[in-house]
Amino acid sequence: MIELKNLVVHYGRVAAVHDVSLAFDTGINCIIGSNGAGKTTIMRSISGLIRPSSGDILFEGEKIDGLSPKAIVERGIAHVPEGRHVFPELSVDENLKIGAYLRNDRAAIKRDYDNICSVFPRLAERRKQFANTLSGGEQQMLVIGRAIMAAPKLILMDEPSMGLSPVMVAKMADVIRAVNQEGKSVLLVEQNANVALGLSVDAAVLEQGRISLRGKAADMKDDEHVRVAYIGV
Ligand code: ATP
Repeated sequence: MIELKNLVVHYGRVAAVHDVSLAFDTGINCIIGSNGAGKTTIMRSISGLIRPSSGDILFEGEKIDGLSPKAIVERGIAHVPEGRHVFPELSVDENLKIGAYLRNDRAAIKRDYDNICSVFPRLAERRKQFANTLSGGEQQMLVIGRAIMAAPKLILMDEPSMGLSPVMVAKMADVIRAVNQEGKSVLLVEQNANVALGLSVDAAVLEQGRISLRGKAADMKDDEHVRVAYIGV
């Protein structure tokens, strides 16, 4: 579904991503890596927010690098960035509706909206409140809901579990599974390897901008290096 071919990304003269080649099929998949490994840089490259220096990005077999972020959303990729960026002084309802700004299929928009309200009952209860009155976990749900409102085929999620309590992390995992059951694919990047590997089919480990390990998520949970470096056991 999504493929990176020899991707190189620089900030100024410094390379943050070095010759990364990776392909993920539909479903939930993940890239794990520690702070500064280049995970966010890869996500921002896929969604068109950063121009790679070289290499190709293909979505459903078509080249998307070089397209504008808007064109990439229109192709069916939504990005949930790190850090829960809600529009703080808009209501929950308005935040969700902004996600559909490129769509004009009113009936389908309403169906997606109603669906989000059933997957995220807390958001439905709080739909008239300003987004900045929500808890951290609720704000994370809101940005995921906003991404779903774009009717994507693939959702890029950058560290969705960051800063959440264990209870909220478990809820977030349920939400990611529910999103996938709705037929959407998810590419997760996480430092929290345990959760990401538990959710994913395929996984890759990114270290200092390079892929150091690639395989089935279930096998990776048993890999000695992954266990020591990313799961902490
Ligand atoms: P984190 O979990 O901390 O977000 P990450 O794996 O997502 O880490 P990136 O944010 O992609 O890593 O950063 C990769 C490298 O690129 C790091 O060395 C970082 O310092 C550097 N970097 C990131 N953004 C910029 C920028 N705007 N300008 C210069 N260097 C940057």
